[in-house]
Amino acid sequence: MKKALVLDSHALTGAVPSGGICYTTPQILAEVKSSVDRAIVEARRESGELSVVEPDSTFLEEAEALAVATGDLSVLSRADLSLLALALQMDEEALLLTDDFALQNIALHRNIRVQTIRGRRIEDVIVWMRLCPVCGSRSEDPEVRTCVECGASLTRKAVSKRGRC
Ligand SMILES: [Zn+2]
Repeated sequence: MKKALVLDSHALTGAVPSGGICYTTPQILAEVKSSVDRAIVEARRESGELSVVEPDSTFLEEAEALAVATGDLSVLSRADLSLLALALQMDEEALLLTDDFALQNIALHRNIRVQTIRGRRIEDVIVWMRLCPVCGSRSEDPEVRTCVECGASLTRKAVSKRGRC
């Protein structure tokens, strides 16, 4: 069976591993702005090399829940989430091609295989927390933005690193 390659906007116009079928989402496609890049993407679609698939809403919900769990939701765009959802939908068959650190982090968290296009690859799963720079109080909930103790703005900190599970 051919491997499913799930492509972010950089991967859409770059070199991809041979022998796979490329997929992306309409939201990622919309991020391709330049006419040269759009022409490359259109050629790939016309040759059947690339399919544009809208992920099911159940996988979008799962993607969002994963992003909340790792603390990456605040830095992910809707397009990023749609791509993660598509990778979840392709499950075991998928290789996610992205340079986005937050997407890589969540993918590792969920044992989705990741390949970077030209960026650095993260090796450890990071769990984000919120830390108060004033009083040092921590929030387990990465989406909380204000310190409950003193009202200061919380900063995003990688306080826990674990090996790949
Ligand atoms: Zn505080």
